Amino acid sequence: MTNTTSEPVVELLCDLIRRPSITPDDAGCQLVLAERLAALGFVCETLQFNDVTNLWARRGTSSPVLCFAGHTDVVPPGDERDWSTGPFEPTHIGDVIFGRGSADMKSGLAAMIVGLERFLAEHPNHKGSLAVLITSDEEGRARDGTQRVMQVLKERDEHIDWCVLGEPSSQHALGDVVRIGRRGSLSGMLTVRGVQGHVAYPQQADNPIRRFAPLLAELHQIEWDDGNDAFPPTSFQVVDVRAGIGAPNVTPGELSARFNFRYSTEWTHESLQEKVHAVFDAHEIDYELNWHLSGKPFLTEPGALINAVTEAVTEQTGRAPELSTGGGTSDGRFISPAGTDVVELGPVNASIHKVDEHVNAEDVITLTKMYQRIMQLLLL
Ligand SMILES: [Zn+2]
Repeated sequence: MTNTTSEPVVELLCDLIRRPSITPDDAGCQLVLAERLAALGFVCETLQFNDVTNLWARRGTSSPVLCFAGHTDVVPPGDERDWSTGPFEPTHIGDVIFGRGSADMKSGLAAMIVGLERFLAEHPNHKGSLAVLITSDEEGRARDGTQRVMQVLKERDEHIDWCVLGEPSSQHALGDVVRIGRRGSLSGMLTVRGVQGHVAYPQQADNPIRRFAPLLAELHQIEWDDGNDAFPPTSFQVVDVRAGIGAPNVTPGELSARFNFRYSTEWTHESLQEKVHAVFDAHEIDYELNWHLSGKPFLTEPGALINAVTEAVTEQTGRAPELSTGGGTSDGRFISPAGTDVVELGPVNASIHKVDEHVNAEDVITLTKMYQRIMQLLLL
């Protein structure tokens, strides 16, 4: 086994893991990155919005602009006693590095920085510009992060042509899956009103559970779509149902529920909402339904970015990546609407958001080479 501990990208990764950047606290991570970028000639700007720290760094003024993007924040570790190692003490066991954020997504950040350093050492006069967009608000509300930075760039007429997000896209082996888009995410917050009553006198009450149950069954039976060439089928999931006042002899007066659609481009959020309201309105039910759209679906069409990423992965792994739109939302939903091609390429995601989150050190080293190769293919 090779010793990976002294590899620059692994050292940087461990430095970042040591900073407990629980969302939205950046815990000094971006300062470390900004110092390295400034040394390469990047103009670094910290864009602070409320408790969120963002970094926009750019080197060069011409087009095309290739941007690496990601987040320094991590999800909380939960009970630290459940961890085999301290969540914020990067620990090597064999060739594996344990720590919160090791996979999601401090490996991606470390690989970007070292990849940029290596590329610029060889090609300081490449064409176009390089940029880096980092937020500390991806795992939280995601209101004052990438979304706000994109607003600032729009006001300045600053355009990103290609964006590589370092999110952990890989499923079993590094580079086996590259994300080229994401499904939309639409949530419904439902209240069903009834009349509270004594459980023994149902005729004097109106139990909202009884009204909602058949409707829920119907929603579950609907085949929303079969997906399409680029997207998996739309999925409907109920995440919460509550009613009842905690007494065994009282039927509730109100029920609340929350559900979520991960939807393909076969729907828009408007057409989905219309369909759901039509299903509800066919039942005798007194309800209120509020919607929250957290992201429209987006898709990067075949072109220079997908070609470069595919080639970089194939060179390093010998396999062509699967181009997928599955998985959860990411900040790509805020970058893509600006007319930017967005691709996500990062380490294996099997342990993200779990105790004992980890990453393979060799993968981080290889990911650095992939990023470096993407720069060569797009900017030389
Ligand atoms: Zn992430």
